[in-house]
Amino acid sequence: MNLQDQTIKCFDCGRDFTFTVAEQEDFRSKGYTHPPKRCPACREQRKAERPASAAPRRADFSAPRRMFSAVCAECGKATQVPFEPRGDKPVYCGDCFRKVRPAR
Ligand SMILES: [Zn+2]
Ligand SMILES: [Zn+2]
Repeated sequence: MNLQDQTIKCFDCGRDFTFTVAEQEDFRSKGYTHPPKRCPACREQRKAERPASAAPRRADFSAPRRMFSAVCAECGKATQVPFEPRGDKPVYCGDCFRKVRPAR
């Protein structure tokens, strides 16, 4: 497979930049399979803004929604609700919730 210079539009500044053969080879040797989305200048800027050692913010995306165990006030079944039951309001399981709050 012959490598060729590629022209890529920078994701950040929107300018076209050249992804040279040398860079592509360098990229591949590092195990990257996708071309960069940003021009060298923007890449440098991003590196300067957030060092590679910064904690990833993955939790924002993939953290499962916290569920709480509760007992349905209607049928007494154990259920899971996405909020913490405080005892001031009855908690219903999915089935009973639909029953006590009929959709109009
Ligand atoms: Zn750029
Ligand atoms: Zn129920």
